[in-house]
Amino acid sequence: MSVKVQEVSKIYGKQKALDNLSFEINQGEIVGFLGPNGAGKSTMMKIITGYIPQTSGLVEVNGLDVSMDSLEIKRQIGYLPEHNPLYLEMYVKEYLGHVASIYKLGKSKARRIAEMIDLTGLGTEQNKKIASLSKGYRQRVGIAQALIHDPKVLILDEPTTGLDPNQLLEIRKLIIDIGREKTVMLSTHIMQEVEACCQRVLIVNKGKLVADRNIDFLASAKSSHVVEVEFASEVSSDLLQEISGVNEIEVLGENRYCFVSLRDIRKDVFQFAVSKSLVILEMKTRSENLEDIFHELTL
Ligand code: ADP
Repeated sequence: MSVKVQEVSKIYGKQKALDNLSFEINQGEIVGFLGPNGAGKSTMMKIITGYIPQTSGLVEVNGLDVSMDSLEIKRQIGYLPEHNPLYLEMYVKEYLGHVASIYKLGKSKARRIAEMIDLTGLGTEQNKKIASLSKGYRQRVGIAQALIHDPKVLILDEPTTGLDPNQLLEIRKLIIDIGREKTVMLSTHIMQEVEACCQRVLIVNKGKLVADRNIDFLASAKSSHVVEVEFASEVSSDLLQEISGVNEIEVLGENRYCFVSLRDIRKDVFQFAVSKSLVILEMKTRSENLEDIFHELTL
């Protein structure tokens, strides 16, 4: 597992920015961290990257406690902060060289700079001053600096904010490419971004985690009916397959399951339960459109 956040809270003065957040991100996942402004996204990312301490709870990156070993954590994580603070007076290549020196890349420095310029498509801009670059190219420089030390985990705080539609598509494509090899967590308040880039979405609101969903599951369920059921006891997945009309099954938790189908199968679930002498404690339909989920959970 790449990132483990366990019961993390953060209090700034009297303001509770994070309220008992827990989630895990597995190696190789691209996870979207979605929430309205002020939800606590940046705060969570600053804690994961070791830039600020949590008030309580535990954060581990690749098994290392971030509050114990922040230097090693910085080696393992690439971080693009929200406002991408770059040295505007520096030239692109010079700046990447400066960052490479901070990470003490030594002999591999020139090679890594060239690789990052290539990866982020900065070839034509590499000899320009950062101040003269468009916002899209500045974001590429930010991503290049975040990746230069070849971290295993990449944390991107609102990487596409302020980009025009073409730049936005290019940066999303770059994130997807990077995600083939790295664990990526990206924050955004744009739902389409999550749908375009991510495999999973974590939604936060007012410092609390309000949803953790698989995007493939959401996509396949978009024009379908989704029903959540809690049984009084565990039911094997083989048995659940017997419910007529079910296309997909997701295990939500202890004795709790989610069924996706092309029609309303509540009746079928009920008949299945009766025929197998199972007790249903709760059954409810649920919307699987990310936009609906977001509005429902972040009002
Ligand atoms: P997001 O990134 O989702 O927009 P933030 O993590 O920036 O949210 O902020 C979460 C909450 O914490 C907000 O209410 C914000 O005003 C507050 N906050 C963030 N940073 C500080 C700080 N340094 N001091 C006091 N309050 C802060």
